[in-house]
Amino acid sequence: MATDQRIAAIDTAAARMRAWEIAAEVPDPEVPVLTIGDLGVLRDVRLMEDGTVEVDITPTYTGCPAMSVFTMDIETALLKAGFASVKIRTVLSPAWTTDWLSDGAREKLRAYGIAPPAGKASRRALFGDDEVACPRCGSLATEKVSEFGSTACKALWRCTACSEPFDYFKCH
Ligand SMILES: [Zn+2]
Repeated sequence: MATDQRIAAIDTAAARMRAWEIAAEVPDPEVPVLTIGDLGVLRDVRLMEDGTVEVDITPTYTGCPAMSVFTMDIETALLKAGFASVKIRTVLSPAWTTDWLSDGAREKLRAYGIAPPAGKASRRALFGDDEVACPRCGSLATEKVSEFGSTACKALWRCTACSEPFDYFKCH
């Protein structure tokens, strides 16, 4: 490989990594404490020869209204960072599950007062409802109030120990 080409390859790798970091930092419009990197929504970032950044995302919920906001925010962030053009691809398979949430994301949810998904989505399918710990006091004496919380992606629960209501990030 000629030196010029080698430098170009290094530049491309660095630019791709930068594009990934910028895209990963875009906050979830519904839970702003989480980024799409935390959620596992960001699947891949490619830098094309013409300088276009291609971003693959997998929506958390099909038809989740937040997705169109994500898409625009990712595009805006990358254009602002100097990338010439951005193409967002939605990848539906494999489907996103709460198992893709990073451990850091679960901690951030709890600190924000939202109970993170309990256990594995696959296990829940077998054993039914989750055991949900109160994000405030950690008690397992909790009960579901409503299948829908402040958004469709969350359910409303209540802790019978500290009697506080809280959002539960639904496991699926
Ligand atoms: Zn509690």
